[in-house]
Amino acid sequence: MHQGKRAIKIKNGTETISPTKIICLGRNYRRHAEELGNVVPDKPIIFLKPPSSLIVEGEKIILPSQSQDVHHEVELGVVIGKAGRHIPRAQAEGHILGYCILLDMTARDIQKEETRRGAPWTLAKGFDTFAPVSQIVRKEELAHPEDLAIRLWVNNEIRQDSNTRFMIFGIAEILEYISSYMTLEMGDVIATGTPEGVGPVIKGDIITAEIEGIGKIRFEVE
Ligand code: MG
Repeated sequence: MHQGKRAIKIKNGTETISPTKIICLGRNYRRHAEELGNVVPDKPIIFLKPPSSLIVEGEKIILPSQSQDVHHEVELGVVIGKAGRHIPRAQAEGHILGYCILLDMTARDIQKEETRRGAPWTLAKGFDTFAPVSQIVRKEELAHPEDLAIRLWVNNEIRQDSNTRFMIFGIAEILEYISSYMTLEMGDVIATGTPEGVGPVIKGDIITAEIEGIGKIRFEVE
């Protein structure tokens, strides 16, 4: 158990941010949708992870007793710098503070079971420690967020190896879409979906993930 507000550091500074919500996209890479036997969506699939699921480097990913099949999903996180509602895609850039790496840890067995009975993914996605993040890189330091190598290793074996240019819905379109339903608050994090190669982790595994221009993170599974 960890209590209190979770905070993410901004790289090369002392500032931190605490999101009011983590908004995630499902199936935003064609090959990942296909590997799980899902159709490619014609509009974004949106779900939330609670801020209590956040951890930063130095903390461990804890496997919950309710799941036998916890998967890694590496994703580009977009951090909101200016609150907004009904943000037109042409103005999306002005609402972004920066970017981070986010691991959308997922209890795949629970997700499948909940999907089968028509229930939301909240429990499968929302366990404590299921949102490990990197520090935030300010947008000024990242020229092309939609053209970045994105990779994940388990125990130094590469599992996910793609590029953010393969996202189905782009960043500006995603901000426009989400903010047409809910206010994006300062510090909120949007996880933009995972590429193909997701798979299970077990106790003792070391997950390493890298996004070009943002950096590398390392988390142990317990
Ligand atoms: Mg995901």
